[in-house]
Amino acid sequence: MGEPFPFSIKPENNDEKFMLEALKEAWKAYQIDEVPVGAVLVKEGRVIARGHNQVEMLKDATAHAEMLCITAGEAAMENWRLNETTLYCTIEPCSMCAGAMLLARVSNLIWGAPDIRHGANGSWVDLFAITHPTHAIATKRGVFEECSARLLQDFFQRKRKEKSKKNNG
Ligand SMILES: [Zn+2]
Repeated sequence: MGEPFPFSIKPENNDEKFMLEALKEAWKAYQIDEVPVGAVLVKEGRVIARGHNQVEMLKDATAHAEMLCITAGEAAMENWRLNETTLYCTIEPCSMCAGAMLLARVSNLIWGAPDIRHGANGSWVDLFAITHPTHAIATKRGVFEECSARLLQDFFQRKRKEKSKKNNG
């Protein structure tokens, strides 16, 4: 991205504070050449688990930041029920991750930028708009949306450059 990711951004409330932590996870992914998406799980005002996208490294299409974060959170709580937790993700979760959140009974979901291809909170489908028989997740969108989106844009821009260099060389 030419310059280090701007961690100089100042969070002004709790949601921004935790989204910044999710952005740090996304930055970890960026640095290892993974699509930069990050997530953190918060319980009682504290980060209990983190995750960043590792699809390429693990050669696993299910290794999304949110999935890895949920699994880590379950390990931290020694419980698959993640009641009273908030999941912060830099990008609108896909249908798989949204399904995992319902299964794990995450209470709140807060995300940054929309995912027009896979987003399951309105961009492609909206799994959260349908009343679930046993569990409801409160959602909020748009926290540090620009940062999340910029990280992705820069990543794909760099990828395209690398590709054209390869083709011309
Ligand atoms: Zn996902």
